[in-house]
Amino acid sequence: MVVASIMSNSPFLAYLVRKINMSGNQSRIQAIAKIIDRAPKACVMPSPLSKIWASDVFDLATMEEALSKNAFKAIKKTVQTGAPLDSATADVVAAAMKDWALSKGVKFFSHIFYPMTNLTAEKHDGFIVTNSDGAAITEFTGSLLIKGEPDGSSFPNGSLRMTNAARGYTAWDPTSPAYVMNTANGATLMIPSVFMSWTGEALDKKIPLLRSNAAMNKAATKVLSLMGETDIAPLNSSCGAEQEYFLVDECFANNRPDLLLAGRTLFGAPSAKGQEFDDHYFGAIPERVQVFMQDFEDKLYKLGIPAKTHHNEVAPGQFEIAPYFEAANVAADHQQLLMTVMKSTAKEHGFLCLLHEKPFAGVNGSGKHVNWSIGNATQGNLLDPGDTPHDNLNFLLFCGAVIRGVHLYGPMLRAVIASAANDHRLGANEAPPAILSVYLGDQLESVFEDIKAGKLLEKAEGGLMDLGLSQILTFERDPGDRNRTSPFAFTGNRFEFRAVGSSQSVSGPLVAMNTMLADSLNWIAEKLEAALSDGKDQTAAVIVVLQELMELHSNVIFGGDGYSSEWHTAAVEKRGLKNIPTTADALPAFKDPSVVSLFESTGVLSPTELASRFEVYAEQYILAIEVEAKLVIDIATTKIYPAAIAYMSNLTSISSSLSSMGLGLENTGIETVVSEANAMMSSVIELGAALEQHDFASVETHMKHCSDVICVLMLEVRKHADALEGLVDDELWPLPKYQEMLFIK
Ligand code: ADP
Ligand code: MG
Repeated sequence: MVVASIMSNSPFLAYLVRKINMSGNQSRIQAIAKIIDRAPKACVMPSPLSKIWASDVFDLATMEEALSKNAFKAIKKTVQTGAPLDSATADVVAAAMKDWALSKGVKFFSHIFYPMTNLTAEKHDGFIVTNSDGAAITEFTGSLLIKGEPDGSSFPNGSLRMTNAARGYTAWDPTSPAYVMNTANGATLMIPSVFMSWTGEALDKKIPLLRSNAAMNKAATKVLSLMGETDIAPLNSSCGAEQEYFLVDECFANNRPDLLLAGRTLFGAPSAKGQEFDDHYFGAIPERVQVFMQDFEDKLYKLGIPAKTHHNEVAPGQFEIAPYFEAANVAADHQQLLMTVMKSTAKEHGFLCLLHEKPFAGVNGSGKHVNWSIGNATQGNLLDPGDTPHDNLNFLLFCGAVIRGVHLYGPMLRAVIASAANDHRLGANEAPPAILSVYLGDQLESVFEDIKAGKLLEKAEGGLMDLGLSQILTFERDPGDRNRTSPFAFTGNRFEFRAVGSSQSVSGPLVAMNTMLADSLNWIAEKLEAALSDGKDQTAAVIVVLQELMELHSNVIFGGDGYSSEWHTAAVEKRGLKNIPTTADALPAFKDPSVVSLFESTGVLSPTELASRFEVYAEQYILAIEVEAKLVIDIATTKIYPAAIAYMSNLTSISSSLSSMGLGLENTGIETVVSEANAMMSSVIELGAALEQHDFASVETHMKHCSDVICVLMLEVRKHADALEGLVDDELWPLPKYQEMLFIK
């Protein structure tokens, strides 16, 4: 069954092999046997990038070939500036899109959209229609391209629709390219779309993103014209998302109902070796994983997703992929697609890809760092300070606007990344704390301190990094170090929102950032206009505005250790910032009058749309915790308790045999096994009772019940179960253990 060479290579594997050969049909042990025997999926020779890049995308280059000059000019303008498209051109584009898709073997098309669940949704329609002779012809007009009408009554809508008024529309977003998705079930033309109710209210994550970009563009243009800029191209936000994930062999996952249904382990004693040696981080990527990554990235390239960086992450079994940044709307669609392709490719390679924020207790969880900047074709990246930030006034204004936004709307930023899963990460000393502060780096922080004091001086640059080694070239040091403890960090030419969860859509955070920026830029424009009409010159006006901004908002700037307990106290007591540990505490920010007015005044979400979001996210939180609680009860009762009983039975029968010979066992630990098993089952009963409670005065109290009662009881059950894992005979233990899931690939 198992090759001898493996045994000689690794004592740990040899030990496992002996166990496997000794044990009967124990499914956990069988899983290990299967994995050890498994060779990596055959590695296909990588295709040259030039051959596969965007080969499945109906992008501008493809359209240029397929369309008339005029039609191409019109669609290009729409793609690049969001200008409206006339219906005649839509017809021409639809016909070209259909021909291109048919030539790739496609028979179906789908308006793909992004409901409020963080997931992606699609409904497929055939190009086929039959004529009066019964012959099959294909049809795809401009109006079919522009609008789809899925029933979609089962998508969460937060009371925006009644079930009996289920009409919902999807509408083509021409600014995000259509593409062909190849699956085992053939190829489908995917058309990125928005999703709205019959009454025109947003039911998805794309509409607010597009609106937030428009609001930011409007406000930014105002500020730039006050700064004397005359040629101002439309401004867009950009996003580059770093995605962390875990890979677990499917043989283990199939023996862990918690991993399959909740995406995380609800039980599991810590492995003797975890991540303490930091030997996984940036280490050599395991061969099976490399084969997976190459396959996965080639698929991304075909879909026009610029995968750029990959490496091992901190926890064993954890990895990261980061595509190159793109316009926020396209990046958000690509992020969703990346997660879909990552999960399906992992499956082909015998892995379960875990995007959960905390699949394993005791080792690092997974985040998604959302790198975000603002720019256009005429002024460039407005968050790029250049070499001398003190004399880049536009940069200082935009950076100041971000500082104000995070300070005023910190709780809203916390709310958009709130989920049952992300609560396990935030504030757990591995991910940013649940307090929103801004890290600027030494140089920039001192520039803003000077502004607060009413002066703008020249600053020392980073200086040359000289290692004193002649063979290593000197290079320019960054003006500020990195701060991995900050939830919101300036990283040279962009901000990095580091508290976003690995499974989340990047749209929510992008909407929040664009909208708070729009609000701050509007505030700045008003102040700037007043200062300029007072007769101040431009530099003096900027300093006056930023000085006031700093007086009001500099409390949010923090460059120290965000994990420290001193900061947790000082942030709240001295700085007046909020520490918001759970989703139950975070989501009510959506109801705060200042947040309602922020979204209404910028035109990003109406009060009704915002209220529906609160309802949907609260419901998702409650459902996620209830599913976990049911799993805890089920696994504890039907897997762990029986294993403990079997072990007790083995011990008692051997004890009685021995005692008939006048012998006795000592230190068996049986009393502890009995007491842990009893304690576990009484916590299970308590948890069951807590789950039965349904009479809540409001959604808020229901969420509180989940965070303060159900989560606490789940941990209580787990504590006893994990103790039993350390006592019960390994061969009787039914669930794959941490040391196996994290280390065997
Ligand atoms: P890190 O050093 O933070 O781990 P990575 O290279 O893994 O950096 O990821 C950084 C991400 O930030 C990438 O997706 C990159 O394309 C993106 N990025 C770089 N510059 C910008 C920018 N100006 N705006 C938005 N994203 C950016
Ligand atoms: Mg980063």
